[in-house]
Amino acid sequence: MNPWILTLILQTTAVLLPVWAADKHDHAGHSHGQGQLELVVQGGSVKANFEIPMESLLGFEHLPTTPAQKKAMADLQAGVTQPDYVLSLPKAAACELKSVEAQSDMFLGQKSTHSDLDLSMTFTCSQPAELKQIEFPIFKQHTRLKSLKVDMLTPKGQGATTVKANDPVLRW
Ligand SMILES: [Zn+2]
Repeated sequence: MNPWILTLILQTTAVLLPVWAADKHDHAGHSHGQGQLELVVQGGSVKANFEIPMESLLGFEHLPTTPAQKKAMADLQAGVTQPDYVLSLPKAAACELKSVEAQSDMFLGQKSTHSDLDLSMTFTCSQPAELKQIEFPIFKQHTRLKSLKVDMLTPKGQGATTVKANDPVLRW
């Protein structure tokens, strides 16, 4: 191949790649202060997938530079995997956290224009009849988060709603 053409291709790729990578992570729904939750409650199983802007959790959305920012991000990464940090199920339902996965490009030291926390949690509950609501203590932990847009499938059917910080409970 003509070296000039090869250089041109490499330059073009170098210019295009960051744009493409940014677009890929720049979800249409990314709006600071607003998280999203997909919730499925079926029998004794609860599956919750959150997507929350990192800005709403940390107050910044760049890679941490100061010791305080690094600590805040490490605390967040550890905290969100703990039961009762993000969501709290009724004690009477006797639920157990089965799996949890927290991902963000910021945890990997990468950055695009916006960053989200992608959090997946699965619970198994031995008293499913008591599963009638979920509380979200995360609003108290992270006051920049104002609302959660929820798409849900529960024994009552399919629905969509918004849970707000001033009444952080989802009931069905
Ligand atoms: Zn953002």
